[in-house]
Amino acid sequence: MLKDGIPSDVEVRFELQTNGTLVSEAWLDLFEQYAVTVGVSLDGPPAANDRHRLTHASRSSTASAVRGIELLRSRPGLFAGLLAVVDLANDPVEVHDYLASFEPPVIDFGLPHGTHDAPPDRNDPAVPEYGVWMSRVYDAWLARPEYQHSVRMLEDIVALSSGARGAVETLGLAPPASVVIESDGSVEGVDTLRSVEEGESWLGLDVFSDSFDAAIHHPKLLHRQESGTAALSEECQRCPLVAVCGGGYQPHRFSAARGYRNPSVYCADLAYLIRHVQGSLQRHGWALGAAAAGSS
Ligand code: SF4
Repeated sequence: MLKDGIPSDVEVRFELQTNGTLVSEAWLDLFEQYAVTVGVSLDGPPAANDRHRLTHASRSSTASAVRGIELLRSRPGLFAGLLAVVDLANDPVEVHDYLASFEPPVIDFGLPHGTHDAPPDRNDPAVPEYGVWMSRVYDAWLARPEYQHSVRMLEDIVALSSGARGAVETLGLAPPASVVIESDGSVEGVDTLRSVEEGESWLGLDVFSDSFDAAIHHPKLLHRQESGTAALSEECQRCPLVAVCGGGYQPHRFSAARGYRNPSVYCADLAYLIRHVQGSLQRHGWALGAAAAGSS
């Protein structure tokens, strides 16, 4: 049913995200057959990964995940990259360099789920600790010209700062272009909206009986079509960094009192990181795009 709703000039890419522990040759054969690329969630070296990714028996899952990654690497074109959730307790350079050692095409860093009502853990609320952590990743990434991988969040800040379009829906002002298909076939907008409220991401659609058009036009996702700053809080609309930041990731803006019309709960972190990256670009002779420089 799904392919019936897709115009012939639209390319749909399927990517599966896994903790890698059950990746096998048989699964890889299947992924190859259906052109499904595979990303693996790994938060860093064993001590870092084991903070949140233990097995049901409370054992380390890192060795199994690494075995899955090595299997993936043996099939060119299937390995989509690595996804790590930032934990301030881990050393950012150690995490980055460990993930880079697997030569992934992309490393995605995700900020932990949080809202204004349930903010993320911090050691010192007066310090933009997540911004500082990601800035150290940026410096480590930049320090080694031989690195071939993209760090998606950082590359997006570079692109958006240069006036180009970004690739992810966590930054920038373009409407999101992806949907999530759950393992039971249900189609969701942003699955992480579940961190805001159970059922918030539920659309009542599935791949067996609905088209992508139904998802695009679903009333719950119509706000995603608002481009520019119209959907953002007044603080974000006035912010000189809005063309790059875009108010941050939608779930991180939520509060029960004001819905999504808040700056991100990571506002200070995003501002710190964007300024760090832009300062570096300027030192390397890059000119910022007019909107990114806050002149429009
Ligand atoms: S830095 Fe803060 S105020 Fe500026 S756009 Fe981002 S979330 Fe909004």
